[in-house]
Amino acid sequence: MDQVLRGSLITRHVKCGKPTCHCATGVGHASLYLSSFYHGKTQMDYVPVIWEQWVRTGLENYEVAQDILSELTELNLELLRRRDNG
Ligand SMILES: [Zn+2]
Repeated sequence: MDQVLRGSLITRHVKCGKPTCHCATGVGHASLYLSSFYHGKTQMDYVPVIWEQWVRTGLENYEVAQDILSELTELNLELLRRRDNG
């Protein structure tokens, strides 16, 4: 499982700057960004539409990986405690 991403998807409304575009007077164009926290700071990466599903899968895989790590940790804690008591 190498397709792993940590972070969360957020939608931002961005105005493209064209004076004739509908967004000049209304809401900006909806753009998807991946917000992630690394090395002490939040990073924002633009997610093109064709990459959206890839990013979503990566985020889901991260959740799955975390669940696996939590379960392994629990099992190993159990082992450690039994060893201590024995
Ligand atoms: Zn626009």
